[in-house]
Formats: sequence, C-alpha cells, structure tokens
Amino acid sequence: MLGGAVAVERAKLSGSEPLTVAMDGPSGTGKSSVSRRLATRLGARYLDTGAMYRVATLSVLRAGVDLADPAAIATAAKDLPLRIGTDPSRELVELDGVDVSVEIRGNEVTRAVSAVSAVPEVREQLVALQREIAAAAGRIVVEGRDIGTVVLPDADAKIYLTASAEARADRRNQQNIAEGRGDDYEAVLADVQRRDTLDSTRAVSPLRPAADAVPVDTSELTMDQVIDELYRVVAQQVSAGGAL
Ligand code: C5P
Repeated sequence: MLGGAVAVERAKLSGSEPLTVAMDGPSGTGKSSVSRRLATRLGARYLDTGAMYRVATLSVLRAGVDLADPAAIATAAKDLPLRIGTDPSRELVELDGVDVSVEIRGNEVTRAVSAVSAVPEVREQLVALQREIAAAAGRIVVEGRDIGTVVLPDADAKIYLTASAEARADRRNQQNIAEGRGDDYEAVLADVQRRDTLDSTRAVSPLRPAADAVPVDTSELTMDQVIDELYRVVAQQVSAGGAL
C-alpha cells in the first residue's frame, strides 16, 4: 500500500499523473514568472487567470462602459471572445482573434481591472472557463487570487505567495522601467497598496489564503530559491495526499 502511494507521488511529480497546483497571492510577488517556471519543472501546463480578468477589462474599456456600473460591465463582458494559451514557455492571449498580450499590461487596464474583476457575472464566466481549462490540461499550475479558495478547492497543492508591499512595488517598477513604461516607485507602491485593499475587501472572492495553502514569502529570495522552495512544498503536499 505504501509502495503504491509512493509510486503515485513520484508519478505526480515526474509528469505522468494529473496534478493541479493553485498559486495565489497579491500582485508583484513574482507569481507569474515563478508559476511558469514551476510548471515547466513539473512538466505541467500554466494558466494566468489575471490575464483573463485583464482581457475582460480591455473589452469593457473598449465598450466605453462606466466602471461604476456593475450591470453595464457584466453586459459588456458577456460571452467574451477570449483565447488563452497554457504553454508555460509561450504567452498567448487573444481578444476576438487578436493578440492583446501587451495591451492588457498597460496602465489603463491595470487601473480598471479591480472594478471589472469585482463583478460577480464576470467572475462566474471566467471561473467556469478556468475550471474547464484545468480539467482539460490534467497537469497544470493555475495562478491567480482565488484559485485555492474558489476555482480549484481540491487542488493537489496550494501555495500562497507573499512579499512586502515595498518589495512588490520595487519589482513592478523595475519591470515598468525595463518595458519602457517609466520610473515612478512611489506611484507604483500606492497602486500596489490600492489594489491589495480593493482585492482583499471586495464582496465576491476576496483575496485571502486558503486555509490549507502553504505561505511562501519571496521578499528575500532569488528566483531559483523560490522555485526550489515551491517544488519542495508541492512535493510535501502531494506526499501528504493533497493540500495540507
Ligand atoms: O495577476 P494580475 O496582476 O495580472 O491580476 C490583475 C487583476 O485581476 C488583479 O488585481 C485582480 O483584481 C484580478 N484577479 C482576480 N482573480 C484572479 C486573478 C486576477 O480578481 N484569480
């Protein structure tokens, strides 16, 4: 019996068994980069659910809808013609058949995404799609805010990535500089704090760790150290028969 359990555990880690990993946490923890790399190491697919909310937001902005009107947002985001890839080495995000991977990271979308993602109909639509994609993939790392709590409550492993607001703002600001979006640490820090508050106090699916998620603080760790730690945590949860 024990031998069988160990064999399943090895198969889960090495790539021949279904494996779902829920990665939650606020923005700027390095969640996307580490989730992609963890997926690659596990031979798994990768889903960026934040990108899905960003596409919904882009669609709502293009419709010229008032962001203070949840009913109008729900209507504008209905039947979203969204396509999202799950290859961890290649980003694919399309709205209406057009690549929007750059546009969804712009300031306009970033400023509006909390309002759009707080609308229950938007979440219902995207959560259903996220579950479908995860089921079809079999092995997948799903990254977001409510994966361990709402989207995949039965995930094999659940991780909650954290980092200080300052460390997160610094990373996002460095990313902005590298991608030509300017250098304004104070404004980025204010935006990180504003989005944390909005995301953690909203009525529907607020950002909070699942009771059985393992917290990993990335403030003082290099990317390689984070990946090693995450792999260790996933192995530990898999061997314990699910999220602890
Ligand atoms: O991860 P990223 O910063 O791209 O996410 C953008 C926004 O999408 C978040 O600030 C949050 O408002 C929303 N989001 C969410 N639920 C998820 C993923 C993202 O509400 N599972």
